[in-house]
Amino acid sequence: MSKLKVPYKTYLSEDEIPKSWYNVRGDMKTKPAPFLNPGTHQPMSADELRPVFCDELIKQELDNDTRFIEIPDEIYEFYKMYRPSPLVHAEFLEKALDTPAHIFYKFEGNNTSGSHKLNSAIAQAYYAKKQGLKGVTTETGAGQWGTALSMACAFFNLDLKVFMVKVSYEQKPFRREVMRTYGASVTPSPSDTTEVGRKILAEFPGTNGSLGCAISEAVETAVKTEGYRYVLGSVLNQVLLHQSIIGLETKAALDKCGIKPDIIIGCAGGGSNLGGLISPFMGEKLRGEADYRIIAVEPASCPSFTRGRYAYDFADTGMVCPLAKMYTLGHDFMPSPNHAGGLRYHGMSPILSELYDEGLMEAVAVEQTKVFEAAEQFARTEGILPAPESSHAIRVAIDEALKCKETGEEKTIVFGLTGTGYFDMVAYQSFNDKTMSDYIPTDEDLEKGFAGLPKI
Ligand SMILES: *Cc1c(COP(=O)(O)O)cnc(C)c1O
Repeated sequence: MSKLKVPYKTYLSEDEIPKSWYNVRGDMKTKPAPFLNPGTHQPMSADELRPVFCDELIKQELDNDTRFIEIPDEIYEFYKMYRPSPLVHAEFLEKALDTPAHIFYKFEGNNTSGSHKLNSAIAQAYYAKKQGLKGVTTETGAGQWGTALSMACAFFNLDLKVFMVKVSYEQKPFRREVMRTYGASVTPSPSDTTEVGRKILAEFPGTNGSLGCAISEAVETAVKTEGYRYVLGSVLNQVLLHQSIIGLETKAALDKCGIKPDIIIGCAGGGSNLGGLISPFMGEKLRGEADYRIIAVEPASCPSFTRGRYAYDFADTGMVCPLAKMYTLGHDFMPSPNHAGGLRYHGMSPILSELYDEGLMEAVAVEQTKVFEAAEQFARTEGILPAPESSHAIRVAIDEALKCKETGEEKTIVFGLTGTGYFDMVAYQSFNDKTMSDYIPTDEDLEKGFAGLPKI
């Protein structure tokens, strides 16, 4: 098969799990723009963030300079339950594609939550516990974040209240039950348990809910409940920091194999797995030590990078969160209901937004039927049933490998396989039944979202 003399799977040893996270902001010349207070439009201070977020996490959120932040022992011990994750040389996929390219993927689906989100969930739960909090609140869309956080909260004996986007709550009862099994309470959003939820329900009675709306409800509940704070599974700088474990392990495993990648690919919803995967590589790029092509892959139905605006916007529909400068479709944007494949958030990580704006990475948007074709091919060759989100990255990895077939170039492609798709079988079913359709918003649709951007 492949001419590369590397094992199918490269595992680091347990002792080689990185001891520190890497904060790519430390190497960025232009730092991501600060959060603004939605009332005063001034940068949010740590004190202003304190009612919402845990103290230590605020420190990490605002730290634009410290390059390495030590992973506390308690988190490291938990990481050992499911890390290091394997770097897999996709020989079977390469063979099926008949490509000279070398394809590797970092597989983050080897834990019960089935995705990379546990990497940050355990860190956030740890800092909440350390602060002596009773519990945390959060939102979840497809349910991976809520699942990961419920596992993390169970480990540290923290209470967890999850607001789950209504359509997922109804369509994904199994995710919901996993969360409840780990002890979380799960409320469909919008709900009548919060002011903002009641307001949204009154305005849009039949709404399916959205991530932005569930965030508003979770934040409101945290602020109004004694001993609670709000935690978020993507977008934030702190989450990219925790997810850097993916990239650090990937780099260590590639170094072990003596391989330098040419192209690094990841799917982008809020940007946390991609940000984590690319961090150490981007660091080298920023320091002028190496060059890589870095590609973010997003759904054509929710194209924050490729068709969004780089502007200050609310992180949530209810406009209770601070303003973040990011590539955004506007906080009112709701992807069309036929969008099955995850990655439906209107905004994007401020760190990645800045890097993209500086031209240090690229982005492509792909249609969901093409994504599921890639998922099917991947499942049939490499054996793993991929999450729809991850399959966006698979799509572009395959496309790049096929380009190599035409040019005869022997490029090395690394992509993030963020998780498994066992809870996404309704989406697979519509693909298998050929009832899945693609929806690309018109410029007019997008203008409606942009019209809601705050004037800063
Ligand atoms: C949440 C999720 C994503 C997207 O989130 P990012 O913050 O963009 O990484 C991708 N893949 C899986 C499996 C997920 O659960």
